[in-house]
Amino acid sequence: MSRIKLIKGDITKLEIDAIANAANSSLLGGSGVDGAIHRAAGIDLLEECRTLNGCPTGEAKITKGYKLAAKYVIHCVGPIWNGGNNNEDALLESCYTNALKIATNFGIKSIAFPNISTGIYSFPKNRAANIVLSVVEKYLENNSIPEIVYFVCFDDENYNIYKNLIRE
Ligand code: ADP
Repeated sequence: MSRIKLIKGDITKLEIDAIANAANSSLLGGSGVDGAIHRAAGIDLLEECRTLNGCPTGEAKITKGYKLAAKYVIHCVGPIWNGGNNNEDALLESCYTNALKIATNFGIKSIAFPNISTGIYSFPKNRAANIVLSVVEKYLENNSIPEIVYFVCFDDENYNIYKNLIRE
């Protein structure tokens, strides 16, 4: 488990290779962590995002990090929770897997993820954490890059959920 680390705080402050963003499918900025990343990265991030023509739910696209300390941003579009019978679990899983595949292709050694979909998109936090940890662990077992994955929890509830699951 040593390739998985937990951090409490603000993902925009991290000095690592890449941070993942919980974006919406327009990729043109939003609230929550998306807004924080765009504010910290500056207007050039939005300019690059405009060239990407959006991103479908469950997929991910990479940009540079601009004014962020992180070199890259991997924009992930998580599912909006709609009761749980609308493919939400698989879509959440696939946005993490697709971000990790991009990280492998770009030789990104360290990547940090926020708790995608668990804010405004209302995915139940405990359910999300279980899905995310198992998919990331499985990916790391089969891939040597990224070397380290950070989970950055902004709220106490997510932090405590991850802390307990990582301990198990
Ligand atoms: P979504 O629409 O995918 O639910 P949100 O941005 O609303 O995205 O929330 C996703 C998660 O990001 C939430 O758990 C929220 O607490 C967290 N979050 C908000 N701001 C930050 C930040 N600056 N750094 C890390 N996580 C953040």
